Amino acid sequence: MWRAARRLDRGLLGRRIVCSDFRVPRYATADLSGRLVLGTGTYGKHLFTRFDDETTLHTHLRMDGEWTVLRPGRRLPGRLAGDIRVLLRTADGRQGLALRMPVVELLATSAEAEITAHLGPDPLRDDWDGAEAERRLAAQPSRPLAAALLDQRTLAGLGNLWVNEVLFVRGHSPWTPAGAVDRPALLSAAVRMLRQSITVRGNGQVTTGNPRPGEEHWVYGRSGQPCRRCRSTIRYAPERPGDAARRATWWCPYCQPGPGPDGTESGHPSRNQVSRQGAQP
Ligand SMILES: [Zn+2]
Repeated sequence: MWRAARRLDRGLLGRRIVCSDFRVPRYATADLSGRLVLGTGTYGKHLFTRFDDETTLHTHLRMDGEWTVLRPGRRLPGRLAGDIRVLLRTADGRQGLALRMPVVELLATSAEAEITAHLGPDPLRDDWDGAEAERRLAAQPSRPLAAALLDQRTLAGLGNLWVNEVLFVRGHSPWTPAGAVDRPALLSAAVRMLRQSITVRGNGQVTTGNPRPGEEHWVYGRSGQPCRRCRSTIRYAPERPGDAARRATWWCPYCQPGPGPDGTESGHPSRNQVSRQGAQP
């Protein structure tokens, strides 16, 4: 979201809209022409594009939405034309395009806080409050770590990739209860990873420090492959019960000892099995 906001600011900030087109039924007649773009702010995964008449265009990418900005003279590939939900054209011919955007909403800028009131602190914002995030994480001590960190009410902006990767880096099973770990250390690792991701070029989603394709992540997307630290096989759980977004989990059972997806302790299976087998005659 942070990158989408920067992209919008590079393309639209300080420019005046001369033509807008909302291709969502609710705003079919909305018209932003004449408005000056003051900038786009983020809170967690929400984007707020603000205009000089104190209105805000609120968008949320969820799994599939995308903001793209076309420079003057550039056209969107024809196959994507049906994906356009919002088109903002500036006086100098730039186009901001919201594609497949599941949430499109016009509201008073003063009403933004109502949208974000339930969200936890956002590590990428100036008003980040680490103590408050820690308090929220501690408030439900029996909750599995992965679910607690993905809950945007704990802290805002941490996606599934970061949750899987930070739990590996800290050596916690995704199903370890939040009350059983060093929460400040876990949160500061998560914040550090997220902040690093916005300072590097490229897609920024590298956690290992190695941007080579296939080397970017410790566990995320690596089921069946050897752990980069211990060579155990990375395990995979397809989705969390009750998780509408159907987010999968990856983990190393040796580097991340603790409960498995069914709640049973995994211990150190790989190494123990190897040594037990080796001891048998
Ligand atoms: Zn490992």
